[in-house]
Amino acid sequence: PPSRRPQQPPPTYDQKPSRPSGRAMRLRPYQLKEPTFVFGNICAVSPQDFAPSPDGSDLYLLINGFFVISARIKQGFPGGHISMSDPQRTWMQIALTDEIDVQPYDAFSQGASSYLGNLDVEVGFAGKKSTEAPYDQDELAAAFIHNFRNQIFSPGQQLLMDYKGIPLRMIVKTVELVDLSMKTESQSAPTPDPRSRGILTQETQINYYKDIKTGINIKGSNRRPAANSVVRPDFKFENMGIGGLDTEFAAIFRRAFASRIFPPGLADKLGIQHVRGILLYGPPGTGKTLIARQIGKMLNAREPKVINGPEVLNKYVGQSEENIRKLFADAEKEYKEKGDESGLHIIIFDELDAVCKQRGSGAGGGTGVGDSVVNQLLSKLDGVDQLNNILLIGMTNRKDMIDEALLRSGRLEVHMEISLPDEHGRAQILKIHTTKMRENNVMGDDVNLQELAQLTRNFSGAEISGLVKSASSFAFNRHIKVGTLAAIDDKNIANMKVMHQDFLDALNE
Ligand code: ADP
Repeated sequence: PPSRRPQQPPPTYDQKPSRPSGRAMRLRPYQLKEPTFVFGNICAVSPQDFAPSPDGSDLYLLINGFFVISARIKQGFPGGHISMSDPQRTWMQIALTDEIDVQPYDAFSQGASSYLGNLDVEVGFAGKKSTEAPYDQDELAAAFIHNFRNQIFSPGQQLLMDYKGIPLRMIVKTVELVDLSMKTESQSAPTPDPRSRGILTQETQINYYKDIKTGINIKGSNRRPAANSVVRPDFKFENMGIGGLDTEFAAIFRRAFASRIFPPGLADKLGIQHVRGILLYGPPGTGKTLIARQIGKMLNAREPKVINGPEVLNKYVGQSEENIRKLFADAEKEYKEKGDESGLHIIIFDELDAVCKQRGSGAGGGTGVGDSVVNQLLSKLDGVDQLNNILLIGMTNRKDMIDEALLRSGRLEVHMEISLPDEHGRAQILKIHTTKMRENNVMGDDVNLQELAQLTRNFSGAEISGLVKSASSFAFNRHIKVGTLAAIDDKNIANMKVMHQDFLDALNE
């Protein structure tokens, strides 16, 4: 595809950051009031924790194994802490009371494509709406590069920029990387890879979109992001606390959400429609709810609305139609106001089979409630009321009970079977659920997760989580007097560890 950047001269880049050294550690967030660390995209760390690079350039840090931000070493800053601005913490969903994993990040670990060719940024006023004259796209872009050169950016990132004394709030929408090996051709393919992240250089082209809510007025802002097109960077299931999902699953997943991962406009050009509904099916306790919620996070959606089939039918007898309507009301309202600029609304429908059983069967006290619920869902998905800002995630243990009409193309069209985990998956799930234990150093050295994975054939993820809890209580019981809650020895209980035998006892319970 033709590049939007000029053919000549070839890009020149700022100094190549030195490769990071140092180890992973856990740090506490901390708020610095200095403007540099409030505005901009940089955090501060202590020289006690990270060695400065020889040339004094900024570091890149990988936070919680998922987000990458730029960091500056600040003399006098307390060790064991990391300063972050509110927008940064919002982006990474980190509370001031959290403890977070921090390790140096090598920006070149993903190959040569480490520099940003294009960066699409949504901009609005951070404070109250201002009635200033229109902002100039090019001036804003120049200010952005001036402020943030050599810093690292990825989609979803949030930051504040001080522009002529006015705080502007920005969200990075999409990034497009330059492959240095191709730099003489001065071309870069759009990178739909959600792990895209790159370093801002003087050559980077910045495209601004106005944020509708705050009504900022930008001259020359023409490119617009497609509805819901932003996917969180570096999305990996391992990082999301879901175990046992193989690469095949990832492939289905990518297919279902490719249209939302593509750069703005590309999905339109290709004539690809967003998937509006998916069905997760399989035995209980295998992580369907977990997955549905993580899909929401990945797609940068709001907190999903969760509804449950039997509840719709029982609790709200005679009101279920009304309740379904309410469920979609927010999405409808936003869609009316903003059209394709509307954010994504996710609705999780648990035990979807419950409403389907009723359909046409005259059950449910002959109310036909199930019928009307299903019909309402159908009309919101593809009927006259069709919405483009909706993702309905249906869940069931019985796919065979789901109304055929709901499963057709354009409706719950992507079906994912979530089955019981195999041994490899069980090992991953065991690892996930013992993370806290290991971090707090209460897991015995003799615990063999691989053996436990072998011994837990036919366990669901929920059952494995239960096993871990039960092993903890076996360990705890070893340390208290029988029939009481009094410790045998206070010192001893402080050093309590969950041993392999505790897991075996839990298994034989
Ligand atoms: P479902 O919706 O399929 O019935 P849930 O998502 O509600 O299952 O799972 C219940 C709990 O079991 C989860 O909150 C999680 O703690 C654990 N769990 C289930 N599956 C997994 C998995 N694949 N990886 C990690 N934890 C899991």
